Amino acid sequence: MSNFGFIDETPIAMKRFLLLYILSVLISCTYKKTNYQGAIAITFDDHSINDWYAQRFLFKKYAVHATFYISDIERLSSKEINQLRTLQMDGHQIGIHGFHHLQIPEKGVNRYIKNEIVPAIKILEENKFLIPTSFAPPFGLSNPSFDKKLNKYCTIIREARWNDQHQNLSEYDDIYLKDAHQFKVSSIGIDVNYDIDFYEIIEGIDRLQFKKEVLVLHAHKINKSGTSYSIDPKLLRKLFKYCRYNKVEFLTMNETRNFMTKN
Ligand SMILES: [Zn+2]
Repeated sequence: MSNFGFIDETPIAMKRFLLLYILSVLISCTYKKTNYQGAIAITFDDHSINDWYAQRFLFKKYAVHATFYISDIERLSSKEINQLRTLQMDGHQIGIHGFHHLQIPEKGVNRYIKNEIVPAIKILEENKFLIPTSFAPPFGLSNPSFDKKLNKYCTIIREARWNDQHQNLSEYDDIYLKDAHQFKVSSIGIDVNYDIDFYEIIEGIDRLQFKKEVLVLHAHKINKSGTSYSIDPKLLRKLFKYCRYNKVEFLTMNETRNFMTKN
C-alpha cells in the first residue's frame, strides 16, 4: 500500500513543486518591477578634497557614487590629487567647474572655453584622470551660445539653483533628469545656507519615485561647521539611509545615462 501511495503522491508533489516554482518566478518578476524607484545624482562643487575624502567610508557604506566638480585644479596639492584619484577609483566621477571659478560671460565664450575649460581638461588628463565629460558652471548658470560650444567637450551640463521660489521641491521641474540624452539639467543646493530641510528633500524623492526620474542635488564642503556652503555629514548619512531603505540609487552624472536608458 505504501508503495502505491508513494507512486500516487509523486505527481501531486511534482505539481506542487511546479506551482510553487511558477509562483516564485511571478513574485520575483513583480518584485523587480516594483523595486525600481528612480535615482539621485548628488554632486559636490569647488575643491574641498580633504572633506570629501574624509567621507569615503560613508559613500562606500551606502554604495553612493557622487560627481565632484573641481575648480582651481592647478592649486591642488599632490596629496589632494591622489585623494581625488582614489575617489575616482571608488566609482565617483570627476567633472569640471572652471579653471579659475569664473562666471560664464554672455560674450567671449570662445575665450572662456580656451582659458577655463581646455586647461582644466588638460591637467586632469596629465594626472591620469578619466577624460571629464560633465561641466558645472561656476555661480550656477550657463547660456545658449556657451552650451553650443561646450557640446564638443561635454555630454552634460549641470547648472545650479536656489530654493528661490520657495516651492515644494517636487515643483522645480528643471532639477530632474528625464531622459538619457538631456544635455542640461539644474540642481538644487542642500548646504546649510540653502535652507532646505530633510523633509523638503523627501518631497523631491517622492516625485522621482513616482515619475522614475533622476533628482540632481549639489553641495560644497562636508563638515560639522554649520557655515555657509557646507553640509553636515549627519544629514548626508540620514539621506543615504533613507534612500537605501526606499531603494533609491545614487549615481554619477555618467551613470544616469545608463539608468535612464534601462528604465
Ligand atoms: Zn563653485
